[in-house]
Amino acid sequence: MTGGAILVVGGGVLGWAIAGELARAGRTVRVVAPEGDARTASVGSLAWLNASTATDPGYVRLRRAALAGWRDWAEAGAPVRFGGSLFWGSDASDTMAARLGALGCPVARLDRAGIAAVAPGLRHPPETGLFVSDEGCADPALILPWLRTRAEAAGAMHLRGQAAALGPGALRLDDGTTLDADHIVMAAGEGASALLATAGLDLRVAGKPGLLIRTTPGRPVSDAVFATPSYDFWQRDDGAFLIASSSATGTGDADDMIAAEATAHISKLFGQTDLRVAERIARTRPIPADGLPLLGRWPGRDDLSVAVTHSGLTLAPIVAACIAAPLIGRDMPHDIAHLRPDRALQGA
Ligand SMILES: Cc1cc2nc3c(=O)[nH]c(=O)nc-3n(C[C@H](O)[C@H](O)[C@H](O)COP(=O)(O)OP(=O)(O)OC[C@H]3O[C@@H](n4cnc5c(N)ncnc54)[C@H](O)[C@@H]3O)c2cc1C
Repeated sequence: MTGGAILVVGGGVLGWAIAGELARAGRTVRVVAPEGDARTASVGSLAWLNASTATDPGYVRLRRAALAGWRDWAEAGAPVRFGGSLFWGSDASDTMAARLGALGCPVARLDRAGIAAVAPGLRHPPETGLFVSDEGCADPALILPWLRTRAEAAGAMHLRGQAAALGPGALRLDDGTTLDADHIVMAAGEGASALLATAGLDLRVAGKPGLLIRTTPGRPVSDAVFATPSYDFWQRDDGAFLIASSSATGTGDADDMIAAEATAHISKLFGQTDLRVAERIARTRPIPADGLPLLGRWPGRDDLSVAVTHSGLTLAPIVAACIAAPLIGRDMPHDIAHLRPDRALQGA
């Protein structure tokens, strides 16, 4: 495949996944992102890979296509586990089971004994729950290095820097350097709005704070991801629990308290009183205004594509394949026409 350079703005899971797809097809790719990951949501993600938390049928199908992509990545050595998702509480309704079942998700109603079988470490398994068997999780500390190594092995290069302005087929960095490109892929997460605005392109993306808490290692309890009324969490192979909280404040003391409460809650659920907070990572989730991904070519601009979404961990394989397809002469693997970024323009 020939063609000039493609610049991918953003060194999160989407940026490196897209860069890998392009480089593996022979394109010259540069990933423009600052050194370090202080603003990278991907490192603070629970990295639960699921279709079951979505309600829009088209979105569930997109997420299921992404899960198929994760299975391909697993075969290529990605650090990922498919232990299923276990729901209890108000989320685990018959309506949810019927909706997911109709969309082809392998969902089963479990009684107390069934839940105890999936999660033998639970002290008081709830009376009923739902189990979606083909979902999983990726360790957020390992998946970004894996994607990056894979992309770099195929020839993608990291250009360290902060993009300050977007022009036609060009990017100006904050040190004044200008980079020309055949095409620019905007995968800058919650930083995308500000950068697009420098070219007069206004995109509605909200930033919502989130907190990822890692505990000290505990006794093994389950391979599943737990979606409970209080927290979503799963247990790593080393025994540490990863817990997501949406009540992050971005202030140290308050977030310390949230992390301690979450850890105490998991300790109680599993009767593991020695669990402690090992780490907490506060990051901002990029959330498009209507909750659906912003994906594809910017209308009227052949030189610009956008990939901004929540659930970017789940969606990474299908987003990468869809953004790369027109740039490497492949058929579009999934219909994303309804996700085009122009639906989120200011005033649209
Ligand atoms: C607590 C928490 C839990 C979550 N749980 C899940 C989950 O279970 N499952 C799931 O699928 N998703 C989850 N998410 C969401 C998921 O993490 C994000 O959707 C995903 O990380 C977005 O990836 P990204 O590559 O688009 O953005 P990011 O990972 O944020 O990367 C953006 C990159 O762009 C760079 N950048 C920004 N501006 C510029 C600029 N001007 N120039 C150069 N570079 C720039 C940043 O430095 C960064 O490298 C969670 C998020 C949080 C915070």
